[in-house]
Amino acid sequence: MFSSEGGFLTTSVDAVVNWARSNSLMPMPLGLACCGIELMGFAGPKYDVARFGSEAMRFSPRQADLMIVAGWCSFKMAHAVRRIWDQMSDPKWCISMGACASTGGMHRCYGVVQGVDNFLPVDIYVPGCPPRPEALLHALMDIQEKIRNQHSVAMDEREKGEPAYLTEGSIVAPTGEEIRHVSEAH
Ligand code: SF4
Repeated sequence: MFSSEGGFLTTSVDAVVNWARSNSLMPMPLGLACCGIELMGFAGPKYDVARFGSEAMRFSPRQADLMIVAGWCSFKMAHAVRRIWDQMSDPKWCISMGACASTGGMHRCYGVVQGVDNFLPVDIYVPGCPPRPEALLHALMDIQEKIRNQHSVAMDEREKGEPAYLTEGSIVAPTGEEIRHVSEAH
């Protein structure tokens, strides 16, 4: 939401925050199997994810906001992956890369989780075995689009009336003062 007139540029805080956030995603690379090699290609000089501001791979969950699960995940590993996800601070996003991460793929066996969405809230699935780095770049662009379209509660209020998920309760200012009370009768 940008507009310019007479040398001025006006926008909303939401648009600026989402724009900045979408262009500075810090991936947590979880190369669990062969898809991890394509993940390395995605970060390397040929495909150059730095063009999208996401070259800063972070191996600490405290500094990452985009988990990329690349490869099949065993039940044993799932606990570690979930713990890393829980340690990442909000807002955060998740890409499931490849057939194995998304569905278990060819590993139809007792030891492999049949899709990481059994224990993670996946935002984007990347098909293929293995998906090429371009496909992962496309997934990253989809995440960027999703972030740019995110609205704050304040914007929901302004544009749609009540926030859809709030049927009863209060919207409270940081000072503790009730801004608005919403009841089911609304
Ligand atoms: S999707 Fe293919 S390349 Fe990726 S982890 Fe599975 S078998 Fe390996």
